[in-house]
Amino acid sequence: MNILITGANRGLGLAIASEACERGHYVLAGVRSPGSSAEGLQELLTKFPDQVTILPLDVADENSVRYASEQAENRVRSLDAVINSAAILLGRDQKLEQLDLEQVEQSFQTNLFGPIVVLKHFLPMLRQGERQSIINISSEAGSFTGAYGGDYSYALSKSALNMFSAQLRNELAPQGIVVHALHPGWIRTDMGGEQAPGDATVSAAGILNIVERKTEADALFIDHNGAPMNL
Ligand code: NDP
Repeated sequence: MNILITGANRGLGLAIASEACERGHYVLAGVRSPGSSAEGLQELLTKFPDQVTILPLDVADENSVRYASEQAENRVRSLDAVINSAAILLGRDQKLEQLDLEQVEQSFQTNLFGPIVVLKHFLPMLRQGERQSIINISSEAGSFTGAYGGDYSYALSKSALNMFSAQLRNELAPQGIVVHALHPGWIRTDMGGEQAPGDATVSAAGILNIVERKTEADALFIDHNGAPMNL
């Protein structure tokens, strides 16, 4: 399969890229700053030189996304999966009175408009693929049932991402393209922190099982094992 992964230089995105290479897939690794922040990816490139293309891709900049899609098209004709993993978590622990609206805007720019713009520009390539999937990495924090009274900008952007996923799922269902919003679990990454119980490699393996259709997943909002989550 040809798989585009955003935020592929660290955290969950890198774990998915590594697992995808191990499984023999071809990875287009979207990276905001290909220079300094991509050591893990460089190692992957060394290990699987014929299976990885590093694609400069800032999801918060539509020109960057458009250019990345043109570069990708020169490299592979079609895509079978798009995994939107890139996201930011700003203003942790801010209560409403301290809320920085600029950070709310930035969060929407990356966590919601990012996946929208990526799919807008990569959909033509995805339409050429087979057994296609779109996985928008979301969060339990974006569910109404999971609202915990904090992380406003992050939670709101993920909630809207779930809605975007629902819309797109219905638009693309007639063409057989599957769309999920997916909670990867609380995992040890820069965002999740060291105290998180989950391992990114385990979530990555679960996500690829869903993409490969080894795991059956029917619901819109699921976890990395394919189990339905409450919206
Ligand atoms: P990290 O903070 O570890 O990594 C975030 C990634 O997103 C980095 O690769 C970062 O790149 C990239 N990124 C941020 N902004 C942009 C941008 N504008 N363009 C391109 N890439 C960008 O996060 P995780 O790996 O933990 O998170 C992955 C996904 O999982 C996210 O969607 C997150 O919301 C979700 N999630 C994570 C949980 C957890 O416990 N970790 C729990 C629930 C959901 P750079 O290095 O350039 O900053």
